Amino acid sequence: MGKATREEMGREMRRYLPDGGDSDLMLAHMELRRDPMFRRIPEQSRLYYAQRSLEAGREAASETSRWTIGELLEQAGIQVRIEGSSGGMWGTALRAQIDWTGKVPYITVYRESMRQLAEAASVYPELFGELTIEQAADIHLAHEYYHWLEYTSGTFTADRLLPVEIRFGPLRRKASVRQCGEIAAHAFAKELLGLAHLPSLLDVCYLLHQGQWNLEAFCEEMEKCREASGNGQQHMV
Ligand SMILES: [Zn+2]
Repeated sequence: MGKATREEMGREMRRYLPDGGDSDLMLAHMELRRDPMFRRIPEQSRLYYAQRSLEAGREAASETSRWTIGELLEQAGIQVRIEGSSGGMWGTALRAQIDWTGKVPYITVYRESMRQLAEAASVYPELFGELTIEQAADIHLAHEYYHWLEYTSGTFTADRLLPVEIRFGPLRRKASVRQCGEIAAHAFAKELLGLAHLPSLLDVCYLLHQGQWNLEAFCEEMEKCREASGNGQQHMV
């Protein structure tokens, strides 16, 4: 498959992410597939992790949505630091992170990463509309704020869900599905900011725009997510 045109790409995106349709489960599965424990999750339980994580994020957003993310951060006493660039360690640039180890918690947002995401999103305006650098930053602030909520509540999303069992010969131990916290944080940001899709879709735009993914890679990933979400039998066009 050669280099896809913008139109071909848009067509495929609409096929997998139908307009007005709910792409949350699909994107939640994309996130779940990145979990080191993914293979340990019984097939029939995948939906449980995806759905419960989405619900956790939405629920937290419904309790805080009368405030803007700026107000929420201020109330929590969280500082925001904008840095130029993370230096792109390991080839993947860090976008934002929260540090709650000191006296004053703070979130660092990397401006160059926000600019790159806004640029990538502008290539696919049907997904997030015109995304400004400030909106990209708000998405990441909301995401990190959700982790703050988890931290202050004393239980992380992944630990509120059933652990998976790892068997190693005669040994058995339990492990949480850490990526559930990421799904919940994406769902929180989506709800709080009224986005059309989970913001993890911005990563997809970025990979496509950077040429790290082509149409084939995109479709392959989407097919896997569709299978993982148990939608394999459904006609999605
Ligand atoms: Zn996160």
